[in-house]
Amino acid sequence: MKKILFCALSILLTIACNQSTNMTNNPLLQEFNTPFQTPPFDLIKAAHYKPAFMEAMKQHRAEIDAIINNPQAPTFENCIIPLDHSGLLLEGVSNIFFNLLEADRNNVLQAIAMEMMPLLSEHSDNIRMDPQLFDKIKAVYEQREQLALDPLALRALQKFYNDFVRNGANLNPPEKARMMEINAELATLSLQFGDHLIKETNDFQMVVDNISDLAGLPEANITAAAEEAKAAGLEGKWLFTPKKPSWIPFLQYAQNRTLRDQLYKGYYLRGDRNNGNDNKALIQKMVNLRLEKANLLGYPTYASYVIANNMAATPQNVYEFLHRLWTPALKVAKQELAAMQTIADREGADFKLELADWWYYAEKLRKEKYDLDESETRPYLQLEQVRDGMFYVANKLYGITFEKRTDIPLYHPDVETFEVKEADGTHLAILYLDYAVRPGKSAGAWCTGFRNYLKTEESEILPLVSIVCNFPRPIDNNPVLLSWDETTTLFHEFGHALHGFFTRGDYRRIAGDIPHDMVELPSQIMENWAGEPQVLKAYAKHHQTGAVMPDALIQKIANSSLFNQGFMMVEYVAASLLDLDWYTLTDSFSGDVNAFEQTSMDKIGLIKEIIPRYRSTYFSHVFDGGYSAGYYVYRWAEVLDSDAFDAFKLSGDLFNKELAAKFRKYILAEGGYDDPMEQYKRFRGQAPSEESLLKKRGLK
Ligand SMILES: [Zn+2]
Repeated sequence: MKKILFCALSILLTIACNQSTNMTNNPLLQEFNTPFQTPPFDLIKAAHYKPAFMEAMKQHRAEIDAIINNPQAPTFENCIIPLDHSGLLLEGVSNIFFNLLEADRNNVLQAIAMEMMPLLSEHSDNIRMDPQLFDKIKAVYEQREQLALDPLALRALQKFYNDFVRNGANLNPPEKARMMEINAELATLSLQFGDHLIKETNDFQMVVDNISDLAGLPEANITAAAEEAKAAGLEGKWLFTPKKPSWIPFLQYAQNRTLRDQLYKGYYLRGDRNNGNDNKALIQKMVNLRLEKANLLGYPTYASYVIANNMAATPQNVYEFLHRLWTPALKVAKQELAAMQTIADREGADFKLELADWWYYAEKLRKEKYDLDESETRPYLQLEQVRDGMFYVANKLYGITFEKRTDIPLYHPDVETFEVKEADGTHLAILYLDYAVRPGKSAGAWCTGFRNYLKTEESEILPLVSIVCNFPRPIDNNPVLLSWDETTTLFHEFGHALHGFFTRGDYRRIAGDIPHDMVELPSQIMENWAGEPQVLKAYAKHHQTGAVMPDALIQKIANSSLFNQGFMMVEYVAASLLDLDWYTLTDSFSGDVNAFEQTSMDKIGLIKEIIPRYRSTYFSHVFDGGYSAGYYVYRWAEVLDSDAFDAFKLSGDLFNKELAAKFRKYILAEGGYDDPMEQYKRFRGQAPSEESLLKKRGLK
C-alpha cells in the first residue's frame, strides 16, 4: 500500500517563530537561516523536539483562547481568519518530527513519539470539541448570507463549521454524552478487532514434514519456510502462515492441491473460527454503533455520513459506480476461469477448479500469455534515468525545471535535493528525494511535506516536498536498477509531489483539501505517463549500452498489465459492495454475519471460485482501519486518473499544454476551491466515465 502522508499533514514554521526568548537555543523555535528556509537538520537534535512541541501547543492554545476571549462580536475577520492561521508552529514541528520518525526512526525518536502522541491528541481534541470556539464559528456561519464573503472565504467558513458539526458540536448535552460513549466504545472494539486479527494470523500454522509436498515451489520460498519453521522451533520442517509473502507464493506454485486448500482456509477463515478471537460479534456491535452515530448526526446510514464528504456524494452514486465495473469484470473473470480450466484439463486434471486453485492456474496462464521477466526490464530502468524521466514529463506538461542543490541541510546523506522552478525561472518549491531502503525507515513509499504552501497578507511561502521510497541500496559503485513496479511507484509519488508544488489558496483550510476518493488522482495519473511508449523511449535506456528499451519489451510491459484483471476487479468490487452493504443498513443488525455476507454476494452473482478480497471477519480497512464505507475510493480515483489521462491521449498530444494548464489549475492548484466534481468538470469538460479504466484493464 502506498501511504499518503502528504494530504494528512501540513505545515508552516517560519512565520511563527517570533517569541519565547527563553528558548532561543532551540533551532525548531527560531527562524531558519538556511537556503529557502529549509529545516536546519544539522542543528536539530532529538532533545529539541519535546520543548518545541510543548511551546508550540502552548502558542496554539493561546491563539485559540484569544479568539474565544475576544469581547467583540464574532466576525469572519476576528474568528475564522485567526483560526485558519492558528497552530502554524505546531504544524511545523510536527511535520519535521513525524517525517523523520517515518524516514529515519531510532529508539530516541520512538520514545519521544510515545510520550508526545497522547498529549498531541488531547490538545487537538480539546480544540476540536471546544464549545465556546464552536459558538463563535456558528455565530459567523449563521450570518454568512449577510457577510458578502467571496466564494473561497465562504467555503473555508463552511468547512470549519462542518468539521465541528460532524464531530457532534450541534448535539444537545445528552446526545453529546452518548456520542462520546459511542466513540469510546468504537475505539475499544476497533482495537479488539485488530488484536483478534493479529492473533488469528499468528496462530494459524501449516507445518509441512515432507519436502515432496513442496513440489513446484521456488527455492527462495522453500528456504523462507524452512527459516520460519526453525524460528518456531521446528527445525527440519517447513512452516507456512496466512501472511501474504507466505501464502500467496504457496497458492501460486505448490502442486499439492490439498495443502493449497488448507493454507487458503487458514487465510480466509481468520476471525471466523468461533474461538476466542472471533470477530463476528464485534462486527455486529460496530455496525450498529456506527449507524447510531450517523443517526445522531442526522444521516440515515453510516455510509451517507461518510460519503457526504466525498466526491461521490451519496452511497447511491457509489453503488451505481461499482455496478458499472462489476458486470464487465465478472464477465472477464468467467473467461479467465474458462482459460484456466482449459490448462487444467490439458494437464489431465479430473476436477473443476475451486477457490484455492485460482492462483495456481492463473500463474500458469500468466507464464503462457503475459510473461514479463524483471531481469529483462531492470537494465533499462536505472534510478537516475527514471528520475530524469519523471522530471522530463513534468517539464513537458508544465514547463517546470529541476536544478540539483548541494547547499540544503539533509536529515540523512542518502537524500538529494532539487530546486523546482517555474518555466520563467522563478522559484516554486524544494524537492527532497530519499530513495534507498535502510533500517529505521518505514516500509512502502510516500510523499510528504516539510512545509506546505501558505499565503499571508505579507508574503507567499513556498513548499518543501519530500518523497521517500524503499528502493534497493547501491552496492559498491553499481547503478540501482529498478523493477517496473518501483518505477511506477516513483512516478506515483512524484504526482503527489506535483500536487504539493502547485497547491494554492488564501485559506489553509481549503488549500489542497481534496476528498478521500480524489486524493490519488494526482498521483495515479502520473503512472500512465510512465508506461507510454513515447515516454519510455525518452528515459528507459540501457545503463551500459545506452540503447533505448526495445519495442518488444515495451509491449510486454503493456501486456502484463492485462493479466488476471477480471479476477482482481471482481474480488475488489465484491469487497467494496460488502463494505457498502454493511454501512447502508438502516436498522440495527442482529443477524448472522456470514449469512449477511453470503446474501450480499449472492445478490451480485459472485462465482463460487472467488471470494471478496476481504471477508468481513478480517476486513480491517472498514472495521478498524478508517475506510468504513470507503473501500471503493481506490477504484474511484482510478476511474478519474484513467479518464483524465484519456483526455491527453484523445487530444493526440500526450503533453497537451492547454489540458496540462487546466489540470494544474482546477485539480492540482485549486482542487479544494469548490465541489470536487465541479472542479473535475472544469478540467475535463465533462463528468468522468469508467470507459477508459475498463479499456485499460482489458475489461471492455
Ligand atoms: Zn498515493
